[in-house]
Amino acid sequence: MADFPTTSLVVIIGGGVVGTSGLYHLATAGWTDCVLLEKNELTAGSTWHAAGNCPSFSTSWAVMNMQRYSLGLYAGLAEAVDYPMNYHVTGSIRLAHSKERMMEFERARSMGLYQGMDLEMMAVGDIKDRYPFIETHDLAGALWDPDDGDIDPAQLTQALAKGARDMGARIERFCPATGVSRENGEWIVHTPKGDIRCEKVVNAAGYYAQRVGEWFKPYGGRTVPMATMSHQYFLTDEIPELAAWTKENGRKVPLLRDVDSSYYLRQDKNGLNLGPYERNCKGHWMTPDDPMPDDFSFQLYPDDLERLEWYIEDACARVPILASGGLQRNINGPIPYAPDGLPLIGPMPGVPNAYEACVFTFGITQGGGAGKVLAEWITEGQTEWDMWAVDPRRYTDYTDQDYCNQKAMEVYGHEYAMHFPHHEWPAGRDKKLSPVDAKVRALGAVMGAYNGWERANWFAKDGDDLSEEATQTWDRAGVWSSRVKEECEAVRDGCGVLDLPGFSRFMIKGAGAADALRARVTGGLPKVGRMNLLYFADDRGRILTEMSCIRMGEDEFLLITAATAQWHDRDVVTDMMPDTVHVEDITTTRDTLIVTGPKARDVLSGLTDADLTLPWLTHQSATVAGQPAHLIRVSFAGELGWEVHALNDHVPAIYDAVLEAGATPFGMYALNSLRMEKGYRAWKGDLSTDYSMFEGGLDRFVKLDKPQDFPGKAALMNEKQQGSKKRFVTMIVDAGDQDAPYMSTVWQGDAVVGETTSGDWGYRVNASIALGLVRTDLAVPGTELEIDIFGTRRKAVVQPDQPLWDPKNERLRA
Ligand SMILES: Cc1cc2nc3c(=O)[nH]c(=O)nc-3n(C[C@H](O)[C@H](O)[C@H](O)COP(=O)(O)OP(=O)(O)OC[C@H]3O[C@@H](n4cnc5c(N)ncnc54)[C@H](O)[C@@H]3O)c2cc1C
Repeated sequence: MADFPTTSLVVIIGGGVVGTSGLYHLATAGWTDCVLLEKNELTAGSTWHAAGNCPSFSTSWAVMNMQRYSLGLYAGLAEAVDYPMNYHVTGSIRLAHSKERMMEFERARSMGLYQGMDLEMMAVGDIKDRYPFIETHDLAGALWDPDDGDIDPAQLTQALAKGARDMGARIERFCPATGVSRENGEWIVHTPKGDIRCEKVVNAAGYYAQRVGEWFKPYGGRTVPMATMSHQYFLTDEIPELAAWTKENGRKVPLLRDVDSSYYLRQDKNGLNLGPYERNCKGHWMTPDDPMPDDFSFQLYPDDLERLEWYIEDACARVPILASGGLQRNINGPIPYAPDGLPLIGPMPGVPNAYEACVFTFGITQGGGAGKVLAEWITEGQTEWDMWAVDPRRYTDYTDQDYCNQKAMEVYGHEYAMHFPHHEWPAGRDKKLSPVDAKVRALGAVMGAYNGWERANWFAKDGDDLSEEATQTWDRAGVWSSRVKEECEAVRDGCGVLDLPGFSRFMIKGAGAADALRARVTGGLPKVGRMNLLYFADDRGRILTEMSCIRMGEDEFLLITAATAQWHDRDVVTDMMPDTVHVEDITTTRDTLIVTGPKARDVLSGLTDADLTLPWLTHQSATVAGQPAHLIRVSFAGELGWEVHALNDHVPAIYDAVLEAGATPFGMYALNSLRMEKGYRAWKGDLSTDYSMFEGGLDRFVKLDKPQDFPGKAALMNEKQQGSKKRFVTMIVDAGDQDAPYMSTVWQGDAVVGETTSGDWGYRVNASIALGLVRTDLAVPGTELEIDIFGTRRKAVVQPDQPLWDPKNERLRA
C-alpha cells in the first residue's frame, strides 16, 4: 500500500467518538504525526447508535470537569472545524423523589457553580412552567441544568475527525489493528495493510477494549476490567400535543431525568425517546459460552422491551402524553462498563508508552473531555485536572471477570443511585481477605472494600441494624456513629487495634537506591533505622503521591502507601530506579496491625522483645507473640502507637495476643475521624495533583536548598517567589447533621473562596472538622468563612496550622 503510514508518533486503535476526540486533541496540541485505526467505518462501535444526551451533571469533580469541557467544546466545534452538526441545548430537569435526592442535587449545584455552571434548584411548583406535560404530585423538587442537551454522535465524531485530518493527523478506516509487538523500545501495530511503528499506542476500542488489551499482556499488561451491558432506548411516533407545543414555542421541551425511577425521557423530533437503566438488566458476552463476535460493527441486539415494562409504565404516569405515542423504533446496543461505571483514561497499567481511553458508559458527553485528558497524558505525562477517578490504575489484580460482571450489573441497575458515605455496595466483595478476616468479622466488623481488600469499617454490637437501608442517608448519625465514637474513645483512653490488610508496599534495594530517591522526592530521606514521609511532585510541583519511607539500610528502603495507590505508586517507584536497584511489590505477603493509644506500650510490653522506648519515627525487627515482625513507631491515629508489620502467617497469633492483652478493635471510620483531628492527609482526597506542595501546606517536606534537582523543583521555586494562590487549612465547622463532603464550596460573603477536601466528626475534639483549601489571604487562624454543606451555609473557622488534637505531638512521643 503506497500511501499507508509505516511510522507514527501515536497510533490510536478505535474510531469511536473517544478515539477520534483523542486524535483531534493530539493534533491540536501539535502532535499531528498520529494515526487512528478503525476496523470498520468511524462510529461502528457504540457511538453510532448512542442517544447523544450530553449532561454536565456529576457528583465526581473530575468527571464534571470533563463533561463541562465537552459541552464547551461541542458548542463551538461545528464552526471551528467547519462541519455542521445537530446539537440542541435544551436544558434538563432532574427530578427528586426525596429529601436525600435534593441534597445530592444541592451538592452538584454547588460544585457546578464552582466550575462556572448555572445548575439551579427547582421547587415542585416551578417544574410545570418548564415542562407542561409532567405530573409532579409525588416529587420533592428538581435540578435544572441549562447546558444539558443532545448531539448527533456520528456527526460529532465526523467533526472531530475532520478537525484532526485538517491539522494533518491520519485516519485509516476499514483497517483493523490485529496485534502489537515491541522492538527497540518502539511499538509495532500490526494491520492487514502493513505494520506501523510508533512511540505510543492507545486502546480506544470501546467494548472491544478487553480483546485489544490482551495483546499487551506479554509486555506487562492485565485483562481490561470491564463487561458489556445491553442498553436500550426507544423512540415514539409523533405526539400531537408535543408537536403543537414545539410549534408554538419554537423549541423542544427540556430533557427529563427521573433518576429515582431510573430513566431519561427526551424529545426526539416531535416524539419522545425513553431510555431506562433497568434493575433487571442484562449483560452480554460475559462468559466463555457467550463469546463476543469478532465483528459487531453497526449491529444491535434483538429488542427486549419486556425488561422495560415497569419503566414505561412509570414514565407514562409521569408524562401521560408518552402513552399516546406509538412505538416507532427500539435501539438495543452494547455499552461497556468498568466496575464503577467510569471510563478508563490514562496510562495502561504495567505497560510502557501505552494508554487507555476506553470502556465509556457516557462516551458522548465525556468524549470531548476524554480526548483532552488522553492527549495531556500522551504529550505531557500529566493532566490539568487530577483524573484519578478515571485512571486505569485505580483497579489492580482483583478484578477478575466474575467481579467485573457483578459490578457492571450492579452499577447499571443503579446508574443514577446516590452514593451515601456510609454505604458499601454489596456486589463483587471478598476479593482479598486479611489473614485475620474471620476473626475480625467474628468481633462484629462491618466490612468495606479497599482496593479489593476487606477491612473493618466499624464494629457492630448485637441488635445493630446492619441493613443497606440503614445506610441510605447523608447524615453523620446512624447505627455506626455511637460505635465509632466508642472506638475513638478507646484509642484515646486505652489501646485500639486495627487490622489493615492491603497497605501497598515496595521493597527497594541495591546500589544507587538512595541517590535515585533523593533525586525524585521533594524532601530528605530518613536515616537508617528511622522513617519519614516522602512526597513526590510532578513537573508542576503538584502532589503526585505520598509514601512512608522506612529506611532499612544505606540503599535499602521499604516504601508504604495507600491501598488504592498500589499500581499508581508502582509506576512512580519503578520509573525512578536505576537497573542496579531491585524493586519488589510485597503488598500481598504481609499484613499490618495498628496498635495505638496511650496504653499501647502496656499492651505490647508483655508480648514483645522489641525496645518500646525507641522514639517516635523509629523502627525495629522484633518478635511479637513469638512471631517475627517489624515494628514502626508511628500512628495515623495520632496517639502513642506502633504499626506491627508481619508476614501473613504470623499475624493471627499477634492479633489474638494483642486483643487478649486488652486492645479494642477499631475500624476505618474511626481511623478517618482520628487522622482528621491530626490534619493527616488522605490520598486523592487531600493529596492530589489539583494542588501544589505549597498549596497543600506541605512546605516542611520541600527542601529547595538540597543539591539534587527533583521533579517540580523549578516550579516550586517559582511558586515560592510568586506566592501560592490557595492554602491548605483545617476548619472547625458549625455543622448540622452532616459533615462537609469532598469538594464542598467554601464561601466568604457572596464569593466562593475555596473547597473542602475531606470532612468528618472528630470525637476527641468534639467538633465537625473540614480540611480544604482557601484563598491564601484567608488562610489565617480565626478567619470566619462558610461551607456549603448540601445547600446550607455553615460557619467555618480557620484553625492554626497545627493538629487540632495534641498540637505538639506529645502523645505520639510519649
Ligand atoms: C443504546 C445506547 C445509548 C447511549 N446513549 C448515550 C448518551 O445518550 N450519551 C452518552 O454520553 N453515551 C451514550 N451511550 C454510550 C456511548 O455510546 C458510548 O459510551 C460511546 O459511544 C463510547 O465511545 P468509544 O469511542 O469509547 O467506543 P466505540 O464507539 O465503541 O468505538 C470503538 C471503536 O473501536 C473500533 N475497534 C475495535 N477494535 C478495533 C481494532 N482491533 N482495530 C481498529 N478498530 C477497532 C470499533 O470498530 C469501534 O468503532 C449509549 C450507549 C448505548 C448502547
